Formats: sequence, C-alpha cells, structure tokens
Amino acid sequence: MTEPAASFWLDRAGSWQPPDPGVLPARADVVVIGGGMTGLRAAQRAAVLGAHVVLLEQRALVGGATGRNGGHVVAGPADSTAETVRLLGMAAAREIWDFTLHTVNAMREFVAAEGVECDLRFAGTAHLAFVEKELAGFEADAALLQTLGIAAQPWSRAECATRTHSDAFIGGLFYPHGGQLWPAKLARAVAAAAARAGARLHSGVQVHAVTADGAMLQVQTSAGALQARAVIHASNGWARRLLPELHNVLVPVIGQVLATAPAAHMWDFGLVANDGYEYWRQLPDGRIVLGGMRWRSATMGRDCDDDTQLDAETSAALRAFLPAHFAALAALAVEYEWSGVMCYTPDAQPLVGALPGRPGEYIAAGYTGHGMPLAFMAGCCVAELALGAPPTITANAFSPKRFDSTTL
Ligand SMILES: Cc1cc2nc3c(=O)[nH]c(=O)nc-3n(C[C@H](O)[C@H](O)[C@H](O)COP(=O)(O)OP(=O)(O)OC[C@H]3O[C@@H](n4cnc5c(N)ncnc54)[C@H](O)[C@@H]3O)c2cc1C
Repeated sequence: MTEPAASFWLDRAGSWQPPDPGVLPARADVVVIGGGMTGLRAAQRAAVLGAHVVLLEQRALVGGATGRNGGHVVAGPADSTAETVRLLGMAAAREIWDFTLHTVNAMREFVAAEGVECDLRFAGTAHLAFVEKELAGFEADAALLQTLGIAAQPWSRAECATRTHSDAFIGGLFYPHGGQLWPAKLARAVAAAAARAGARLHSGVQVHAVTADGAMLQVQTSAGALQARAVIHASNGWARRLLPELHNVLVPVIGQVLATAPAAHMWDFGLVANDGYEYWRQLPDGRIVLGGMRWRSATMGRDCDDDTQLDAETSAALRAFLPAHFAALAALAVEYEWSGVMCYTPDAQPLVGALPGRPGEYIAAGYTGHGMPLAFMAGCCVAELALGAPPTITANAFSPKRFDSTTL
C-alpha cells in the first residue's frame, strides 16, 4: 500500500473541487507549507490581512491529520490539567485553557457565520476511568478546574453505567464544553474562505528546502522555486524533515482509527478512556469512530511519519475494544480503518511563533494528539506574527523559543 487508506471523513465528505490556484508564482509575501487546518487557517488569515499568500500541500488539501483524526473538539491542554500544572505551573495552565476555549469559540463562530455543515455540536466529552489511578487523576483535575473556573462534572460509577451503557468504568469526569465535528468538512470550508480571500492553494507540491536568499527566503519545491518574505511551517508530523534542529522536539507519532457500520443510538457525547489513549464517539448516522490502542504496537507509533500502513496489533485491539466493553456492540462490522500522523512535543504543548535562528520562518505544529481546535487559532496567530500584525491571542507556553539551540 503506497497511498494511505481512505479515512471515513475524506471518503464520505462528498465530492469537492478545490479552488483553482493557477500557476505557481515566482514570489509571494507568505508561503505556507501544509494544507491541513493549521496551514489553511494561516493562509486565510494572511490573505485577509492583505498578503499575497501561496500555500503548498504535498498531497491533496486536507490529506494529513486534519482529514484522518477522531473528530473530537476538546479544549484544554493535551495532558491532564494536573500534569500541565505540575510541568508548567498554574499560570501556564490557565493560559492554555484560555487559548483553547477561545479557539473553540472562534471555530463555533466561523461555522455559524459561514453556514458550514460539518456536524459541529457541543454534547460534551466524558473522560472515563477503568482503574483507581485514573480516578485519582480526575479528582486532582476537578479541584484544579474549579480553581480555574472551568466547568467539569465528576461522574460516579453508577452514573457512568447509566450514561455509557457499560459497567466497565469506575468513575468519570464530564466536560460539558467538549464537542464533535466532521473535521474534513470544516477544513474544506476554511480552504474555500482562504481562496475567497485571495490565497492560492496548491496541492501536489512538496517543499524540499527553505533557505535564506538575501532579505528573502528561497523555497525549493517539486514544482520549482519561489521566493517569499515569510514562510509558515504548517506541516505538523512532517515538519522536522525541513527543520532538522527540531528532530527531538517535533516527534511524529502514528495514530489509528476505525469507523463501524451504523449502530443503535448509544451516546451523544464523546468518550475518552485509558488516560486519553482510547477515544470514541457516535456520529449522527449511528456509526462509531474509535481511535487509539497504539500502546499495543511495539513502537507505540513513535518516530514514524508513514501513514500508509496499519499496525496489525493496534488493529486487532481496536476491533476488540467496543465488543469487550459494550454488550450492545458485540457484533458490529468495521467499515473503515486508517492511520494518521500526529506530532508530539516534549512538554505536550505546540510550537506557535517565530523559529529561533531562522529569520522570516514561523511554525505552528506539535499539538500532541489534540489540535482540531488549537490548529484553528494557532494557524491564525502564526499568520499574524509573520505579517507583524498584533496576534488575536497568544500563549507564552507555546513559544518555540523554549526549544532554542541552548535547550536542545
Ligand atoms: C489518528 C489521529 C487522531 C486524532 N484525533 C484527534 C481528535 O479527535 N481531536 C483533535 O483535536 N485532534 C486529533 N488529532 C490531531 C489533529 O488531527 C491534528 O493536531 C491537526 O489535524 C493538525 O493539523 P495540521 O494542519 O497542523 O496538520 P496536518 O493536517 O497533518 O497537515 C499538515 C500537512 O502538511 C503537509 N506537508 C508536510 N510536509 C510537507 C512538505 N514538505 N511540502 C508540502 N506539504 C507538506 C502534509 O501532507 C499535511 O497535509 C488526531 C490526529 C490523528 C493522526
């Protein structure tokens, strides 16, 4: 298999004619590398700010993680709040929560303003505990979230059983602001908005190198070279290929997902278990989309940016998960199975901003398994920074400077 397996989201999103970008120009104000949510939002924002923007995507637009994820919209840090406070402190945790809640609202507003049909809804997300250790983590999180003024409701074992239709869980923590969406449909709508604003979105063009060229940057691509005043790396799990100094900072990790045949209604909300390793939700048509189980593969999917393969151990474990925990789902056919490339960082926070030691180059990447909401605003902010415009919102915790050469 040389092409990645079709994801449910891309296969069933309906036909789509991406906007025609015309011929690749010789120069641009801003070149964006990557046509996922980050790059498309960066292109849209930069074009709205008046820049001549060229986006370069090696595959079809939305062919990376944005078209191949689990479809959850989760605010907050990628790690638990308690772990984030332990690693980065309370002020950083507050900043990260503020950023992600802002970005969820921005996404909601965009969907409403553009009339995007992407099944976006906010039915909540339930984090569920199989074991006492997880439950203790939820209790620590609940206390911190109360201090931060963020809504979260503890669920007892009995409440978990009633709400989830399973007695597998000993307790839970329910985030009422958690959401779900059809990610590829939202990303396509952002692409359309970016093109309307004047951004030129080129698919099938791979960037090979970015080098300094006097006051400009030279971007070498599979379709020729172009000059740019600024380059935005929105290439997520592949970013370190062009930025070798970040080899240990932006680590690609393969995640695997399946989609079942339609089942009787079980849940409106999203579900997350096993410290976030497993995550699932039911679509309006009854299908269940389940991701995770990478801990069953020998490598845990780490250090790999090849999403053309499915890991057999992960696959078997994913297929066994729903029947093992939900009696009503004992004989459910799997209709789609795919993998995608996530991008993990050492502190589980993304890099959003100017790249140290690379004048004119910017990055937004490293959402550590999350990112649907984060990428939506991070792309926007990095475009503002690249053009010297005041950023709509920033988070010091996301500064790439924390990984400059002195700390690597
Ligand atoms: C299996 C899986 C499940 C996930 N589940 C969720 C979830 O439920 N909720 C959530 O919030 N997040 C989830 N995520 C994470 C989320 O999908 C990502 O954080 C988000 O899509 C990142 O968007 P992006 O635009 O930065 O990256 P991508 O969508 O990966 O886009 C990067 C693009 O850059 C292109 N590119 C790379 N290098 C080059 C180059 N040299 N030249 C040209 N183009 C290049 C790639 O082809 C790709 O299209 C999941 C991810 C995966 C893989």
